[in-house]
Amino acid sequence: MSDVPKSHPRYLSLTLRDRIVEGVENGITSIHGLIAHGRGEAFDYLISEQTQSFATDAVCAAAAMLQLSNHPVISVNGNVAALVPKELIELGNILNAPLEVNIFHTESGREEKIRQHLLNNGANEVLMPSIDTQLQYIDSNRKYVHPEGIYKADVVFVPLEDGDRCEALRKMGKEVITVDLNPMSRTAKQASITIVDNVVRALPLLCETLQKSPSASDSQQIMTQYCNEDILQQALQHISRGTDG
Ligand code: ATP
Ligand code: MG
Repeated sequence: MSDVPKSHPRYLSLTLRDRIVEGVENGITSIHGLIAHGRGEAFDYLISEQTQSFATDAVCAAAAMLQLSNHPVISVNGNVAALVPKELIELGNILNAPLEVNIFHTESGREEKIRQHLLNNGANEVLMPSIDTQLQYIDSNRKYVHPEGIYKADVVFVPLEDGDRCEALRKMGKEVITVDLNPMSRTAKQASITIVDNVVRALPLLCETLQKSPSASDSQQIMTQYCNEDILQQALQHISRGTDG
C-alpha cells in the first residue's frame, strides 16, 4: 500500500486505488478491473465525488424493490469484492439474501479467491456458479450461475455489471438493480434501477435506507413513481452543467 498522507486532497480516491491494486495483487480483482475502476474514477469526478439527489432517489427505489422482492440475490465481482466486502455482507444479512460470485475473467482460481475473501470478511455462505445451470441470452463465462441463486432470483443486485449480462437478466424477466458511475453505459440503460454513484458510497446508504424498513405500501408507492430514464437524464444534466452549475 502506498503511504498517502490524510491531508492529500485526493486521499480518498487514492485509498480506493490502493484497495483495487491490493485486490489485483491478491488475485481477487482482474487486471481488467483496473481499467473499469479508472473509467469509474473519471465519472466520479464529474459528479463531484459526492452522492447526488439522482443517486439518493435511486437508492430509495432500490431499497423498496429489494424489500418487496421474494428472492433477492447479490452478484459479486472482483472490483466490488475488493472495495466493499463488508458492506456486501451487511446487505446480504439485512435482506437475508445470498451473495453469489459471478465474474468475466476466471483466471487463476479467481472465483474461489473471491469466495474465500468474502468468507474471511464474515460471510456465512457464498454461492458459486454451477456448470450445470446457465442463463439464456449470453455466451460468456458469466452465463454460469447457481441454481438457488441468480438463476432463481426475482431481483438481482449487481454493482458494476456488464451490459450484455444485464440485458440477459432482464430478458429472463428479472429485475436488475445496479450501481454504475457511468449513466451512459449499456448497463445503466438496461437496468431496472441504476444508482449513479460510487459503490463505496452507495452501499452504506442502501443498507442505512433498508434499516429504516419502510412499510410495504410506502415501498409500493416509491416503486410506482420511479422512472429510471428520468434518473439517468438527471445524472447527465448534472454532468453537463458542470460541478458548480
Ligand atoms: P457496459 O458493459 O455496461 O456498456 P462498460 O463496458 O463501459 O459498460 P464495464 O467495464 O463493463 O464498462 O463496467 C465498468 C463500469 O463500472 C463502468 O461504467 C464504470 O464507470 C463503473 N464503475 C467502475 N468503478 C466503479 C465504482 N467504484 N462505483 C460505481 N461504478 C463504477
Ligand atoms: Mg461492459
